[in-house]
Amino acid sequence: MGSDCLFCRIVAGEIPATVVRETPRTLAFRDIAPKAPVHVLVIPKEHYADVATLAEGDPALAGEVLATAAAVAEDEGLLGDGFRLMFNTGAYGGQEVFHVHAHLFGGAPLGPMLAGDLA
Ligand code: 5GP
Ligand code: ZN
Repeated sequence: MGSDCLFCRIVAGEIPATVVRETPRTLAFRDIAPKAPVHVLVIPKEHYADVATLAEGDPALAGEVLATAAAVAEDEGLLGDGFRLMFNTGAYGGQEVFHVHAHLFGGAPLGPMLAGDLA
């Protein structure tokens, strides 16, 4: 993927980001437009379009993304009060950047799971 992908470019250091944790295969950085007091994006360095593709292609790496998210949650002091981890996927999921990323939200009560009742 590389140069066409925003998050691959962040991994490559071509676009600056506020990195909060890095492991050999994952990167966590603050969202540029935070929606909560803590809003961190956690990605695999390797390009996968979405969480389904990642889980299918490299389940161990999917686990590493979760472990990095949990470590950031601990670093940010979120374990006591709780947090939300979210993978927007595809059009209905509202995904805008097609390099899989977990949104880690915390630092305040996060409200209902969805904006409205869609059922
Ligand atoms: P999505 O809608 O794909 O789940 O979320 C994409 C997220 O990436 C959004 O929350 C957006 O604010 C964030 N984002 C977009 N461009 C950049 C950027 O250049 N740097 C950082 N750190 N976050 C970005
Ligand atoms: Zn990418």
